[in-house]
Amino acid sequence: MAHRQDLVPIAAAKPPFWAGVDLGGTNIKVALVDDEGRLVAFHTEETHAGRGAEDAAERMGRAVVGLVARAGLRPSDVAGAGLGSPGPLDIPLGTIVRAGNLPGWDDFPLRDRVAAHCGYPVTFANDANAAGYGEFWVGAGRAYDSLVLLTLGTGVGGGIIIGDLNVEGAHSHGSECGHMIVDPSDDARMCPCGQPGHLEAYASAKSLVARAAEAIAAGATGSLAAAVAAGESLTPILVGREAEAGDPLALHLLRDTARWLGIGIVSLMHAIDPEAVLIGGAMTFGREQAPAGRTFLERIREEVRRRTFPKLAALTVIGFASLGGDAGSIGAAGLARLAAKNPRGAGGGA
Ligand SMILES: [Zn+2]
Repeated sequence: MAHRQDLVPIAAAKPPFWAGVDLGGTNIKVALVDDEGRLVAFHTEETHAGRGAEDAAERMGRAVVGLVARAGLRPSDVAGAGLGSPGPLDIPLGTIVRAGNLPGWDDFPLRDRVAAHCGYPVTFANDANAAGYGEFWVGAGRAYDSLVLLTLGTGVGGGIIIGDLNVEGAHSHGSECGHMIVDPSDDARMCPCGQPGHLEAYASAKSLVARAAEAIAAGATGSLAAAVAAGESLTPILVGREAEAGDPLALHLLRDTARWLGIGIVSLMHAIDPEAVLIGGAMTFGREQAPAGRTFLERIREEVRRRTFPKLAALTVIGFASLGGDAGSIGAAGLARLAAKNPRGAGGGA
């Protein structure tokens, strides 16, 4: 599994160490970082959600113990662990309330079982909050005191970090930015959560693919439609490639996704006024390095400029996240560290 951060040798690392687990529907990622958030060891394995929550909790715990040994550390060199999980969660209880892509895991005492298997206190967080904290601590947000991270993947995740506070809310539903209402109309698209008009219904990878398929089924032509007709699978990567080739439908889909994001971001800016809003997750169209990524980002910024106060448009940084798939595991480790230093900043310790 590729990750963007180089491993730091233990001799150059700053103790104590922190473990972070990023639980996803497909993969489990485990990071061991030093006190400055530098990666010293990394592990990934398949989630095998169908084997059940206890099986995965045991493997997550073992993976933490295994990484500590592999890094040549004593168990006591590690001060704590963090666990980022798909939500919605009950953070004080340490459970997943409604696990969409982890069927049968609802109400399982996930945090406490992972803690039992790894032997460390575990700080529990929503996966996108953990990714947001990773970007805040050592990623694209490290220069800022406050940020919002939107992760674009199967769904749209949100992380809001203000100072040393991870915004979890009074009922563990803080930072659920993907479920902000961006379209109140009667024919709004349906969000996978069951409510219409949420940002996730317009800006997730799943929504992009669904809108592309609908347009093609309705008779759209061009190079994207031709590629799909020739058997290529319809993915955000294909849409990005065909947008770069100038296909009008692909370009429209890319720009329309960016427009909905811009609308959601303006509401976040007006509610929170963060220093930076970062876009991460799997669907970033090659980020600034690719023409499609630049078009996407510029269209988001354009929509924000149209709809916000000139001062906010000028001062708020809108850019891509930088840690890629490592943000969640590094951030979960960071939240364990934050919970140890500032118990009010990150919740759910076991
Ligand atoms: Zn929703």
